[in-house]
Amino acid sequence: MIYADNAATSKLDLDAFESMKPFLLEEYGNASQPYFFSRKNKKALKEARELIASCINASPGEIYFTSCGTESDNWAIKGTTLLAKKRKGIITSEIEHHAILNSCHMMEKFNNPVKYLPVDKYGKIDVKTLEEVITDNDKIVSIMMANNEIGTIQDIRSLSEIAHMNGAIFHTDAVQALGHIEVDVEMLGIDLLSGSAHKFNGPKGIGFLYIRNETEIVRFIDGGSQERGYRAGTENVASIVGMAVALLKNCESIDSNTTYLKNLEKILLDTLSESEIDYIHNGGEKRIPGNINLSIKNGNGEQLLHRLDLMGICISTGSACDGENAKISHVIKAIGVPNEYAKGTIRISLGHDNTVEEAKEIAEAIIRVMK
Ligand code: PLP
Repeated sequence: MIYADNAATSKLDLDAFESMKPFLLEEYGNASQPYFFSRKNKKALKEARELIASCINASPGEIYFTSCGTESDNWAIKGTTLLAKKRKGIITSEIEHHAILNSCHMMEKFNNPVKYLPVDKYGKIDVKTLEEVITDNDKIVSIMMANNEIGTIQDIRSLSEIAHMNGAIFHTDAVQALGHIEVDVEMLGIDLLSGSAHKFNGPKGIGFLYIRNETEIVRFIDGGSQERGYRAGTENVASIVGMAVALLKNCESIDSNTTYLKNLEKILLDTLSESEIDYIHNGGEKRIPGNINLSIKNGNGEQLLHRLDLMGICISTGSACDGENAKISHVIKAIGVPNEYAKGTIRISLGHDNTVEEAKEIAEAIIRVMK
């Protein structure tokens, strides 16, 4: 099998797995209990919080563990606007993940107005567009750091500056960015940031929300007093520890991984270019390393995915299948891919476990199917 869908999820790192094991087996105490049996759990939580904070230049008290990236996104949008009386507006983009888009749709039902910023053909937001639409009724600006389909990286620093100049909170969904590019919440002026472990070789079902001190946000999950009273629920110590180990490991190898993945991308694209296949390579110049989103002329992304699956190759498509009519994804629509290409969209997302041979084999398999 060739696994080339790392943007969907990634393989658990072995060191992360080893770090989790004691907390799944021997050290099963509840981290909130005061007795000695819970001490190691408490200490592990503290250390994981410190590690994660150090990876994004935050302080440990600004890290709040959640169950996944989706929860973090829901919390950011709803937690800042649910009780807002004056400033009720939300600004986001047309190409956000559905965790953000559907949270915004829910808030629209509570009469919170939402503005959706358009993007150019590379998936980039023009900073001026935010400047033009933002008003003093807007509570939060939420723009993803890197897109999950086409990998485009936004100019977060300029966007957060405009949000702050207008008194709004700035949130970024960094689920696809963390562990893949450098993230510094201070330098980028971020107030809220969503992360998810399984996108950087951590376990599934664990994430975090960075909340800058003093940010106006209410509790999202009601219950006990875990996470300083802000996010109830018994802590998933094993997964939190695994998430911290995986993030640190990936952050420490961002440069070498980037060089390695850029080379794999080149090999795959060069092989593809040697054929007669007519395709558009979607996304901007600044993209998440390893993300290759292609729209193939007169292709069918769904069929291509299934044919590659039969060859043992896992990739993904930018479009959700709707029986006979393959729907075009909201991202592909937003960047204006011409119709004759849009239906033939696939996403190949390579990871550091992929080899040069695999990159070639994926391209050759696509060529064979298209022929
Ligand atoms: N945000 C983005 C950009 C994503 O790519 C994903 C997952 O695909 C999520 C949020 C949701 O994360 P999780 O799978 O942890 O709920």
